[in-house]
Amino acid sequence: MAFAYNNPGPVGSCYAQGEIMELDPDHPLHDREMAGLLTVALEQTFLGVVITDAELQAPGPRILWANRRLLEMTGYTMAELRGSSPRILQGPETEPAVIQELRRALAAGESFQGETVNYRKDGIPYTVEWTISPVHTDDSGKPAYYVSFQNETTEKWQERRQRQQLSTALEQTADSVMITEPDGTIRYVNRAFENYTGYGRDEAIGRQPSLMKSGEHDAEFYRELWETIQAGQPFRATFTNRKRNGELFFEETTITPVQDETGRIRAYVSSGKDVTERVEMERQLREMAVTDPLTGLANRLRFEQTLEAELERSLRYDNPLSLVMFDIDHFKAVNDTHGHEAGDDVLRTLADCVNNQLRRSDALARWGGEEFLVLAPQVGAAEAAALAEKLRAAVAAQDFGLSDPVTASFGVAERAPGDTPKRLIRRADDALYAAKETGRNRVEVADGQVR
Ligand code: GH3
Ligand code: MG
Ligand code: MG
Repeated sequence: MAFAYNNPGPVGSCYAQGEIMELDPDHPLHDREMAGLLTVALEQTFLGVVITDAELQAPGPRILWANRRLLEMTGYTMAELRGSSPRILQGPETEPAVIQELRRALAAGESFQGETVNYRKDGIPYTVEWTISPVHTDDSGKPAYYVSFQNETTEKWQERRQRQQLSTALEQTADSVMITEPDGTIRYVNRAFENYTGYGRDEAIGRQPSLMKSGEHDAEFYRELWETIQAGQPFRATFTNRKRNGELFFEETTITPVQDETGRIRAYVSSGKDVTERVEMERQLREMAVTDPLTGLANRLRFEQTLEAELERSLRYDNPLSLVMFDIDHFKAVNDTHGHEAGDDVLRTLADCVNNQLRRSDALARWGGEEFLVLAPQVGAAEAAALAEKLRAAVAAQDFGLSDPVTASFGVAERAPGDTPKRLIRRADDALYAAKETGRNRVEVADGQVR
């Protein structure tokens, strides 16, 4: 009996299309031996095999034989399958388009290759990739049989479905997600990433995360980042990132290394939340904590921090440093005569007036009620006294919108050996007291320091 068939897949180099190989041309096997051998081979394969007749009229081809793997896959017995239509394997999720294409191919005498959902006897769906070839036994052009090989792909299918669900979840989350290669090359970004950064995925994929570098983090930050993730540990930080349009935003980010079973890092997954609003609010709160609300000047807390840092610096570089403390003269009378509101206005006007006289390196703070401090780095007593004199004159000349002039008294102290912030302030305060004692609207320099 001469068999002919169409090879549905890629043709192997040792076969010609339609040719059936002899095991050993010098010792041909009897048909019966050959048939037995092939049956064993078919029972051994991991693929499901089913042979049907080629009846194309209703009710269509009938199953003649199936191997053990196919019975296992479908849950039917051979007795149940034999004589029935392969259609008993189809169900609601079987793709009609695939079946239609199968019918068309078979009617045209072609082989078919496809994938669909089938149903076990117990109703559980599974997916198969399968090939069906018409087999001809004569020259009539009409096939006599169909031989079908089926590969169950349920696991692959479930994996794919799970991947799809995962990627849908990733797409819909409000957190930005970025996946990179071990060398940092961006391989995936989700929609939230696009929204946060303004970069489309086409612009981001293939680039490095430095795309979003703001320049706000130092080398130490990146060194720690890489050290942590390369050691297989997650790295968490609030990143300052730059959007495509140049704007900065803050992202609370976790970068997690993904390792394979040997511990080798395969990818990094970075997920982050936009915390710009929170960071901005924190910044404002911090600013509020060190700012005097009435004048907008630094408050006592900020001044103490600045003084400590500047005092240390002046010691290290052996530079001079001076303080000018001043206090409004008879301010109680201003309040008493013009009211507290007018007193507040005086404080604000005076803060602006003095600020306008200072250098950028000088720091002005409201120290207490109507008492102020100027920190002048790299300025000695004589120069500080001249500055105080300039400030005194400016205040005295300032129009405060009141009938009476407003003046202030000034005390100057230059950093002396052994000065702590506290001691330096006290010496400026003492000098201010002396200025008050000797008539107000005056400048006095701390004891022993030249004017
Ligand atoms: P001296 O020349 O000795 O400094 O006299 P003075 O009246 O300025 O000094 P005193 O310490 O007796 O009074 C300070 C006044 O400053 C009393 C207080 O009501 C007023 N004051 C302190 N803080 C504020 C403020 O924020 N607003 C207003 N309007 N007044 C304030
Ligand atoms: Mg006063
Ligand atoms: Mg006072």
